[in-house]
Amino acid sequence: MRIGHGYDLHRLVEGRGLFLGGVKIDYPRGLLGHSDGDVVLHAICDAILGALGAGDIGQHFPDSDERFRGTPSGELLKHVAKLLLDEGMKVVNVDVTVCAEQPKLAPYRAAMRTRIAALLGVAAEAASIKAKTNEGVGPVGEGEAIWATAVVLLDEV
Ligand code: MG
Repeated sequence: MRIGHGYDLHRLVEGRGLFLGGVKIDYPRGLLGHSDGDVVLHAICDAILGALGAGDIGQHFPDSDERFRGTPSGELLKHVAKLLLDEGMKVVNVDVTVCAEQPKLAPYRAAMRTRIAALLGVAAEAASIKAKTNEGVGPVGEGEAIWATAVVLLDEV
């Protein structure tokens, strides 16, 4: 078995759609990034890459590469899931924490869970997502950014 951990943070800006866990969230601002800025899926990608000892998301999808501009992060995670399969490994479970002062993410939790599970080819029970606020403290608490962390357990197929 292999374990991996991932973390990501993106800045919230006007004029972009907000995507978290592969789900479009109704909010007037979105995450700045070369792709769609989905910190949840980026943290999961890094957790899997970490478990495989296969580097990080920046190495696999450099922000200097125009092919990845505006890419839905689900495509990045699908690519990582393929790498995982090529290594003869599968996801046992993934556990994500996402921290956003606003909007409230509870109404989207089930949809994010379903989407993450589908991208990884696991049952919804194997994909956990927990949402919290930063209690108004710091840049995340003041609504300048959103972060996510992920832990993933892999096993041989
Ligand atoms: Mg990122």
